[in-house]
Amino acid sequence: MYLGPINAEWVLLIVIAIVGFIVQAKLQSVFKKYSKVMFPGGLTGKDVAERMLHDNGIYDVKVVSTPGHLTDHYNPATKTVNLSESVYSSNSVAAAAVAAHECGHAVQHAREYAPLKMRSALVPVVSFSSQWAMWVIIAGMLLLNTYPALFWIGIGMIAVSAVFSLITLPVEYNASARAMEWLTGSYTLKGEQAAQAKEALAWAARTYLVAALSAVVTLIYYIGIARRQ
Ligand SMILES: [Zn+2]
Repeated sequence: MYLGPINAEWVLLIVIAIVGFIVQAKLQSVFKKYSKVMFPGGLTGKDVAERMLHDNGIYDVKVVSTPGHLTDHYNPATKTVNLSESVYSSNSVAAAAVAAHECGHAVQHAREYAPLKMRSALVPVVSFSSQWAMWVIIAGMLLLNTYPALFWIGIGMIAVSAVFSLITLPVEYNASARAMEWLTGSYTLKGEQAAQAKEALAWAARTYLVAALSAVVTLIYYIGIARRQ
């Protein structure tokens, strides 16, 4: 990636990268800690997910186990809550938090939550533009004198990624809010354990916040370069 002259955005991007590294490490350690905290009732991630879906009147979403670590996600196309093997079969506070969060996305889908709809609509555009943006930017720099518009097209592609990471924020925060509402409202988690689940989800949300900040500053950085030409 061409970094250009050192300026405020450049320094800010390095600071954000360092903060991102710290947040990611903290997230890992918090999840590791709370995956050892079991809660009474013996519910596994799968049980938690199925109960939360049913309590929300959702019966057409399947809860399935998916290979890998931190691979948990909700797939709106197949209507499946995919839980990683450790979350699926674990009855820890961390597993309950993750399972409920993914169900939060299933509830958003069922209720046609607008930011989720917008985010889903952007997925194909973003996967294309994030793959090609850097190449278009580089080509745009090389062809700056003959075809100046190309650099701005590259910036437009970076802007799509920035918008996407901003729309991701309400989607993720809202899924965690729905998760906590159900976990505490159903008395699945109480007192200290509810606080632990909330803490784990808060750290997960911060990783999305850092990613969004990084995307916005990257965009500002390239706009700055384009305007100086
Ligand atoms: Zn999520």
